[in-house]
Amino acid sequence: MFQGLSEKLQETFKRLKGKGKLKEADVSEAMREVRVALLEADVNFKVVKDFVAKVKERSIGQEVLESLSPAQHVIKIVHEEMIELMGGATGKILIASKPPTVIMLIGLQGAGKTTHAAKLANMLKKQGKHPLLVACDIYRPAAIKQLQVLGDQLKVPVFSMGQDNPRDIAKASIVHANQNGQDVVIIDTAGRLHINEELMGELRDIKSSVKPHEILLVVDAMTGQDAVNVAESFHSDLGLDGVILTKLDGDTRGGAALSIKAVTGCTIKFVGIGEKMDAIEPFHPDRMASRILG
Ligand code: GDP
Repeated sequence: MFQGLSEKLQETFKRLKGKGKLKEADVSEAMREVRVALLEADVNFKVVKDFVAKVKERSIGQEVLESLSPAQHVIKIVHEEMIELMGGATGKILIASKPPTVIMLIGLQGAGKTTHAAKLANMLKKQGKHPLLVACDIYRPAAIKQLQVLGDQLKVPVFSMGQDNPRDIAKASIVHANQNGQDVVIIDTAGRLHINEELMGELRDIKSSVKPHEILLVVDAMTGQDAVNVAESFHSDLGLDGVILTKLDGDTRGGAALSIKAVTGCTIKFVGIGEKMDAIEPFHPDRMASRILG
């Protein structure tokens, strides 16, 4: 993963030779290449511009630490600024003081909502919670079936009311959870190929009927800047509490991971790293920065 980006950056940094203070010309040249590498990795152009400016400002004229080569010194600064860019580590679900904690997963079709609803249930079950999965993707019978199959596999109950109104299903699921001792309700909602008013209207409806504690957007890392645009739209319409960035095991160029926080202000809470039920991890900006830099 991120092969292209890390190799490019390493090549660039190798050219920073010598000791003493980092010179403006050297840093500028390196930053030009960092800029290209980040743009090629599909990082948002404004994010790249600000990022490069910050790294440059911190690098020029700095005394290179005795223990580091100039390249290592710049890499250290790039690493620190990447962590800053991706925000704090928040791979946690906020548990409500009065159960059930209600989590609503939203996103475009194919992003990984159903899979991640089940992965979250699995994770929370291992933490001693009693989750309930709720099938609100009523348009595709296959989606309800998919959730039921995953629930059976994980031994997590699944609440569904067929093709009923998603708002009513969501509402009824809370009553059901209260009656059956389930302390976390995870609502899987319908997606569309593109964002449209009908989808947003339906999601707003569910939101107002159950007042979720966490609205998490599921986005596919492979879609790069599109993922960031999708996050921006959903956040402005519904107000997101966090993002689950999926398919990081695939051939992603890393742009979404680096841009989402800076563009939308939303932190990435979890990452999906495979199709299996345990392929979910809390998002760690420091680890991600190390992975990107190779
Ligand atoms: P939904 O339409 O948003 O509910 O998407 P699904 O949960 O049905 O996922 C769409 C496809 O992506 C399925 O084939 C999943 O197995 C796959 N998928 C989901 N998350 C990941 C992930 O983190 N890594 C990989 N490699 N595949 C994933």
